[in-house]
Amino acid sequence: MTATVIDGKAFAAKVRGQVGEHVARLKEEQGIKPGLAVVLVGEDPASQVYVRSKGKMTVEVGMASFTHRLAADTSEADLLTMIDQLNADPAVHGILVQLPLPGHLDSDLVINRIDPAKDVDGFHISNVGLLGTGQKSMVPCTPLGCLMMLRDHHGSLSGLHAVVVGRSNIVGKPMAQLLLGDSCTVTIAHSRTKDLPGMVKQADIVVAAVGRPQMIPGDWIKEGATIIDVGINRIDKPDGGTRLVGDVDYDSCAAVAGAITPVPGGVGPMTIACLLANTVTACCRAHGLSEPEGLTA
Ligand code: NDP
Repeated sequence: MTATVIDGKAFAAKVRGQVGEHVARLKEEQGIKPGLAVVLVGEDPASQVYVRSKGKMTVEVGMASFTHRLAADTSEADLLTMIDQLNADPAVHGILVQLPLPGHLDSDLVINRIDPAKDVDGFHISNVGLLGTGQKSMVPCTPLGCLMMLRDHHGSLSGLHAVVVGRSNIVGKPMAQLLLGDSCTVTIAHSRTKDLPGMVKQADIVVAAVGRPQMIPGDWIKEGATIIDVGINRIDKPDGGTRLVGDVDYDSCAAVAGAITPVPGGVGPMTIACLLANTVTACCRAHGLSEPEGLTA
């Protein structure tokens, strides 16, 4: 079997298009312009790239983008004051604090200072609790993007066995909650899981969120399974230079799977698209308006 390639780049462009249409309607019919504020502390090069690209795409879909760049030695009190100001600002519907923060800042304290209704990353403890209890919440962007691609590919996920490899708070755990919400039977695997190959072999859906390049080979995969590869790992090429690979060994997995997301061009582009989707959702909720269909969990 040769797997269908789930094209996250094209899917993300479609999602951004839907967001853009909704933003245009909000402006035309309600006179409201959704706004996303991104706070970057310090000069981590990867974070700077992410923040620039988030700002650019926010503007492209017609939303207001507010980027706040703070010095690496910004005090916790000053950062919290900035978040309080953004919480109170009616032009800001979504707030994202770019992680990781410099070591002297308490990430949990900072994230939990964001108004949960504006927490478009879905990391606030209230949103984690709401998602865990099946209530309306802001959903973390990467797992939301994975869910959208799975729903699009399968239609109903009900009764499918999903194995999520990785139990982080930003990917593995919320992914498992979302799959449970769609009535999958869910197994969460991690570094202490016994017989990981045997566990993965049972899966109709494999979500790999490990952070280890090409760790999952094709002979762990059940014939026809769907693979969502969240991993982004940079490895050396034999002839010099580097390239990006996922957490699954693409070629051997694609030979067995029914469908697979590539790296790059799979989950990655969906993450920013879902951030924009969450911002427009937050804006609609803030104004008591109906939410855009298909852009939330
Ligand atoms: P974390 O490092 O926070 O979590 C990794 C998880 O993988 C842990 O639960 C860990 O288990 C588990 N793990 C590690 N080694 C093994 C192993 N040998 N066997 C089984 N499980 C193992 O990573 P994240 O969840 O933040 O990210 C995962 C990957 O996804 C990374 O490559 C990251 O770059 C990528 N990513 C991509 C995004 C995108 O937009 N596409 C967004 C976010 C992340 P344990 O808990 O036991 O240590």
